[in-house]
Amino acid sequence: MRIAVIGTGYVGLVAGTCFADSGNEVVCVDIDEAKIQALQCGLVPVYEPGLDDLIHKNAQARRLEFSTDLAASVSRSEVVFIAVGTPEGETGGADLRHVLAAARQIGQSIRHYTVVVNKSTVPAGTADKVREVIAANTQVEFDVVSNPEFLKEGAALDDFLKPDRVVIGTTSERARRVMAELYAPFVRTENPVLFMDSRSAEITKYAANAMLAARISFMNDIAMLCEHVGADVDFVRKGMGADKRIGYPFLFPGVGYGGSCFPKDVKALAATAREHGLELELLHAVERINDRQKRVLLQKALKHFGSLSGRTFAVWGVSFKPQTDDVREASSLVLIEGLLDAGATVQVYDPVAMPVLQRTLGDRVRCARNLYAAAEGAEGLFLVTEWNEFRQPDFDQTKAIMKTPVIFDGRNVYDPARLREKGFVYYGIGRGA
Ligand code: NAD
Repeated sequence: MRIAVIGTGYVGLVAGTCFADSGNEVVCVDIDEAKIQALQCGLVPVYEPGLDDLIHKNAQARRLEFSTDLAASVSRSEVVFIAVGTPEGETGGADLRHVLAAARQIGQSIRHYTVVVNKSTVPAGTADKVREVIAANTQVEFDVVSNPEFLKEGAALDDFLKPDRVVIGTTSERARRVMAELYAPFVRTENPVLFMDSRSAEITKYAANAMLAARISFMNDIAMLCEHVGADVDFVRKGMGADKRIGYPFLFPGVGYGGSCFPKDVKALAATAREHGLELELLHAVERINDRQKRVLLQKALKHFGSLSGRTFAVWGVSFKPQTDDVREASSLVLIEGLLDAGATVQVYDPVAMPVLQRTLGDRVRCARNLYAAAEGAEGLFLVTEWNEFRQPDFDQTKAIMKTPVIFDGRNVYDPARLREKGFVYYGIGRGA
């Protein structure tokens, strides 16, 4: 099939590349000329394991190309995906400006029956809005389908190529056949393709993200309680997860969820409810707990040191989770800003997110070349993102180069007893035992 993907970000680039890899002819379109130029030269603008190789392979086979020319790309395509950003709007709801702008341009450009697929995360009813905008700009036949994306940054290729499920919102039999054919290569192991109406598809995406965020906030509340009663949340987590009705994923307490999706999606779902005169109380609690949790390491440091002013601290990990360079809404940024505001000096190291951090914070922080350089002379060390290389550092070397050996383990990756044996003062999350 000939496919155009509008929006070449994390989602559009991965989706376009994977569709090309299954034999389709794909053009990825973006308004960002620098991004498209880089991709045309073989430079991949985001860090995503395995993506570079797959892009190069498919670009060489001429199944994948990059363009800023939306009209030409859309007019020759049978399927057009919208994968532009849907950031938080002023009142917490999703800002649909980019989606509707893309829809208008698609309407002006289609020349024959086209399936327009909305992959961006959008509120219930957006497919209808997109349909109206396209219809106002064309006489040509088309269908609009909601096909929310569930990939995780850091494991995006695997998630896309072997999805747990594919959700497709459409009532058109013609569009349904096209979508079933397109996704057939990715669901050969019988993972379900779930067809439903577009509003249910749109809500499914938000509800799934809100549920995952709720599990995290719930565990962060339980962790807070564990600290107060002298229990260890890590035992509690294991005891809970062994229950098949609960399971282990997303039961890790920590420094709060970040990233480009959970924070805005929880807000957007609450905003949709509000537009319908409803308050989803649980979501408000999920958000409040997360805001508190993003500051939890800072609170622990303040309690330990009294004042942070004039002290030097190390931060290990900046990206909102391992295996990505994405720092959007990352908890690390709240911690770093808090340390800087308190008058501290901050030395940071992240395996891949340093260039992004430099663009975000400039020379307000010291960017270290490795984890030990970040720890040098520090009075406290914050583990924020659990990259593999932080899991088993040389603690003797770390202790030797730190000014005072105090560790704030925001992900509970270290063994408190072992670190205390080595002479560290250890603080974890919810480890009161
Ligand atoms: P992104 O910000 O990385 O990329 C969006 C791209 O769209 C940008 O490159 C931007 O220049 C481009 N764009 C904006 N308007 C355009 C237009 N009119 N024409 C062409 N290009 C345009 O965003 P993302 O992280 O890929 O997310 C895209 C959507 O997918 C969002 O709705 C997001 O919530 C959803 N989503 C994201 C993830 C994720 O992990 N990042 C996962 C699932 C769903």
